[in-house]
This record gives sequence, C-alpha cells and structure tokens, in this order.
Amino acid sequence: MVNRRKFIKASALSSMALSFGKVAACNSQSFPVKGKAVVISTWDAGLRANKAAWEVLKDGGRALDAVEKGVMVTENEQNCCVGLGANPDRDGFVTLDACIMDEFSNCGSVAFLERIKHPVSVARRVMEKTPHVMLVGSGAQQFAVAEGFPLEEQKLSPDAQKNYDNWLKKSEYKPPAINVESKQGHGPFAPYKLENGEWNHDTIGMIAMDANGNLSGSCTTSGAGFKMRGRLGDSPIIGAGLFVDNEVGACTATGQGEDVIRVAGSHTVVELMRQGLSPEKACKTAIERIMRIKGEKAKDIQVGFLAVNKKGEVGAFAIHKGFSYAIKTNSVEEMVNSKYIME
Ligand code: ASP
Repeated sequence: MVNRRKFIKASALSSMALSFGKVAACNSQSFPVKGKAVVISTWDAGLRANKAAWEVLKDGGRALDAVEKGVMVTENEQNCCVGLGANPDRDGFVTLDACIMDEFSNCGSVAFLERIKHPVSVARRVMEKTPHVMLVGSGAQQFAVAEGFPLEEQKLSPDAQKNYDNWLKKSEYKPPAINVESKQGHGPFAPYKLENGEWNHDTIGMIAMDANGNLSGSCTTSGAGFKMRGRLGDSPIIGAGLFVDNEVGACTATGQGEDVIRVAGSHTVVELMRQGLSPEKACKTAIERIMRIKGEKAKDIQVGFLAVNKKGEVGAFAIHKGFSYAIKTNSVEEMVNSKYIME
C-alpha cells in the first residue's frame, strides 16, 4: 500500500538550487509500488488516460497496449494540447508528433504528421510493421493511410481556435533565447506561461509497468503552440521525449523540447537510474544539467521529467512549480505535484 505520509520530503538545498532561487516541496513522490502494475502520465489529462491504461493492466495485459490505449484517450479529447484539435503552428496547421517504446527496446515514431487522429497508433505500426523507427510528414501520413487510418479534416477545438486567434492579433514570434552564450533565440514557447501564471503544456507522456514487471512508454503531442512550420520537439524523439530500458526503468519528458533534446533528456534520466539514482534524483540531476546550460534563461522555460525504475518506484522533477503527473496503481489514483527548482 502506498502511504502518502511516507513520501519523501524535498531534498536538501543543492548548490544548483541555491544559485537559482529556492527549492520548494509540493506533495512529494517516489511511490514504492514494488511488484505491482503502475501507470504514470504527465499533467492532469493523465488521470483520464491512466484509467484507460488501467483497463489493460488490471487484467494482466501488456504495458505496451496500456500506454497506447491510455494516450489515445487524450488524442481523442478535443483540447488545445494534444491531438487534431490542438494549438496549430503559426501558419494554422496542426502537426502531430508521437512515439512508443516497448520492453524489448522496439520503438516507433511519427512526426510532423497532419490530419491523422491517433499518431501514437501510427507510431506503433511504424515499430511493428516497418524496418524503421521514425517516419515524418507526408511519408508518415501516406503510411498511416495505407494502414487504414482515415484522413480527417483539421478542426481546431474551441480553445485552440481562441488561442490561435489571440496569437494572430500580434503574430509575435518571440521565443526565449536558446543559449545564454550564443544569444541565439530560435526556439518556440513550449510550454509558455499563461496570464494566470500557470504553464501551458502540449503533451502527454505515459509509462506503464505491467504485472510481469515489463515497461513500455508513449508520448504524443501537438508540439509547441504557434511553432515554426516543420518544427519538431523532443516528444517523437526516442531518448529525448521518451526512453525505456526494461532492465533499468523508463522516463518521459515534457516542456521546452529543444532543451530536452539538448541533453537527450529521457535517456539521460534512465542512465542515471542505471547508476543507482532514484527516479526522483535522476530527474532532478537531468533538470540541473539543463539549467546549467541555460544559465539565467532557465527562468523562461519549463521542463519536467517523470520516471519509474524497475522496482516500480516513481519520481519526477521540474524546473518550475506547476508540473504535475497522474499515477494509478491498484490502490492509488491521483495527481501528484512534482518537486521543482524555481517558483
Ligand atoms: N515537449 C513538447 C514539445 O516541445 C511540448 C510540451 O511538452 O508541452 O514539443
């Protein structure tokens, strides 16, 4: 049984944290869910997605099926963040990225995919039916159609339409600078801060461990809202937005994709767990690496990592307050606020 009182409290102030402000503890994590099936996913849409994943896991189903079924729920929801109704690129087109990875290190990915409702399922077909890992753009769409996925009409959700109309008023493309040294600023806003101070987000990443202790993960997104046409973030990139090593653990990422790619984020977290770090400590170490690279610009971006190790322990860490994840086991179903470095 998970006992919330046993959650680990915020770690001691690290030198990194001191240089960027105060370390804060929210509801904590590191769930000891040993030997039991568990599914975790990023942000609050994860609660609904986990329910669908649990339908697979509770009957002893495979983690791979769970993570596909789970995020399909989010792809189906007409919202501003994931799926065909999500925030478009700056030219008004919704372009979708997704990937999936199983316990045998099989993986598949699609990116810059238009007019297809379930990119995660196309990613799975790439994994299972082609000799490749990644298909993009019109080639990915052609493959999807050949596999029987219907070509849909793009229809923005009311939220995404409103967001895009607002954005068009200024059409301002002012992404935060990528690197404090080079002063090159080409990255889009992913996620960006909303007027109420919360961080917008555009992704669901999910990891499941099934009753056999096998791990799989999935990640699906519309990418950064109002991005440059053709831009890809971390989400469809194996090792960046998602990585699974069935001997060690798995990780998924959300936030400013460019900065997750820069440190091969999810792979880095898994490698840190391989060295013996807990999921939470591994996520924190990867976050600190990004913050070291970004310097002062770290305050302008959000990145969050969510990981599970082979023992079934779960942990997360983010640059800023506001990242949360959903967890479901046979005894727990709730949202957990990630720890973070900065308010
Ligand atoms: N990581 C995603 C991207 O950069 C966005 C997000 O997680 O909100 O495309």
